[in-house]
Amino acid sequence: MNIHEYQGKAVLKKYGVAVPNGRVAFTVDEAVAIAEELGGRGVVKAQIHAGGRGKAGGVKVAKTLDEVRTYAEQILGMTLVTHQTGPEGKVVKRLLIEELTDIKKEYYIGLVVDRETQRVVMMASEEGGTEIEEVAEKTPEKIFKEAIDPSVGLQAFQARKLAYAINIPKELVNQAVKFMTALYTAFVENDCSIAEINPLVVTGDGKVVALDAKLNFDSNALYRRKDIVELRDLEEEDPREVEASKFDLTYIALDGTIGCMVNGAGLAMATMDTINHFGGTPANFLDVGGGATTEKVTAAFKIILSDANVKGILVNIFGGIMKCDTIAEGVIAAAKEVGLDKPLVVRLEGTNVDKGKAMLNESGLNIVAADSLADAAQKIVALVK
Ligand code: ADP
Ligand code: MG
Repeated sequence: MNIHEYQGKAVLKKYGVAVPNGRVAFTVDEAVAIAEELGGRGVVKAQIHAGGRGKAGGVKVAKTLDEVRTYAEQILGMTLVTHQTGPEGKVVKRLLIEELTDIKKEYYIGLVVDRETQRVVMMASEEGGTEIEEVAEKTPEKIFKEAIDPSVGLQAFQARKLAYAINIPKELVNQAVKFMTALYTAFVENDCSIAEINPLVVTGDGKVVALDAKLNFDSNALYRRKDIVELRDLEEEDPREVEASKFDLTYIALDGTIGCMVNGAGLAMATMDTINHFGGTPANFLDVGGGATTEKVTAAFKIILSDANVKGILVNIFGGIMKCDTIAEGVIAAAKEVGLDKPLVVRLEGTNVDKGKAMLNESGLNIVAADSLADAAQKIVALVK
């Protein structure tokens, strides 16, 4: 789960991470009022769940209240297209009005869960303010990493090592160490999956401050992070993914044309690969899970049908715990409820397969049966072409 920059900064502040003063505004008048409190000027920052806002015109420095008003009017309601939003962009509905910080130099600090070392890794670079993916590609030697032992946490010597490696001014190294330690504690205590401070800055008056904050949270841990769940902004999420999460379905929207309903993450991956292999493109990843009910299957099928890009649907089910007749029931119920005007290929195997197939045959729905995954993928690819 993702949250806004201003929310991330509020979380970090509680742990002693230094952030500029500022508040969220939902209207232009609120923006101006906040800037007034901040001394008559400030930075106007679009709040969307994506980075790259600066380059796209979503971060503006305002030196007067009039400028704050102008920029707030301009940015609120605009569709911001950044390298992280996709071509359709995101409409800005909130602004962060923040103290104008005197930047001496920008750095990068990030925390991720590294699969290779199976540890939380702190990354640091002197190349702040730019896209870290680009630094990683072109000048990987400029990124320094420390894997953190979970039993003892980030050690001061590790933080010092990173601070020296990225050339934090000597007299500010202790402050940087404190910053990194606080950031690590915030990361662990909130079940983050990513914490990215880009840029971390050193200011003209010798402070180490987080100018940007991106926090992502492990969705499997949200059940014990009620205060974090409250920060969720559903308007920033794909409505189909929101709907899917209500039914506890694992659904990820993609940009292809073949909707997939599969049980089991491995089978879902294999199904997507096979569709690609035969020249098609999946519209989504959807794992209905092992013990799905008819209601869940119906919801899943409706979500797929609501995607305007979907030109055909492939249902690929291996009935183990999940019974084929339950899937058939869900497909029939959903198709009857919302109408099925797209080709549907179904491949069923396993528990109660005959019963499931019979139900589909007798349903009167226009269904193409398939015998194997390859057969099913070829059939649906041909039908959507
Ligand atoms: P994004 O990463 O989405 O582009 P940032 O929050 O990193 O957004 O802002 C982009 C740039 O704007 C920063 O690299 C920094 O140079 C400048 N900036 C952001 N916040 C402030 C601030 N409070 N004071 C001064 N400059 C800022
Ligand atoms: Mg940034």
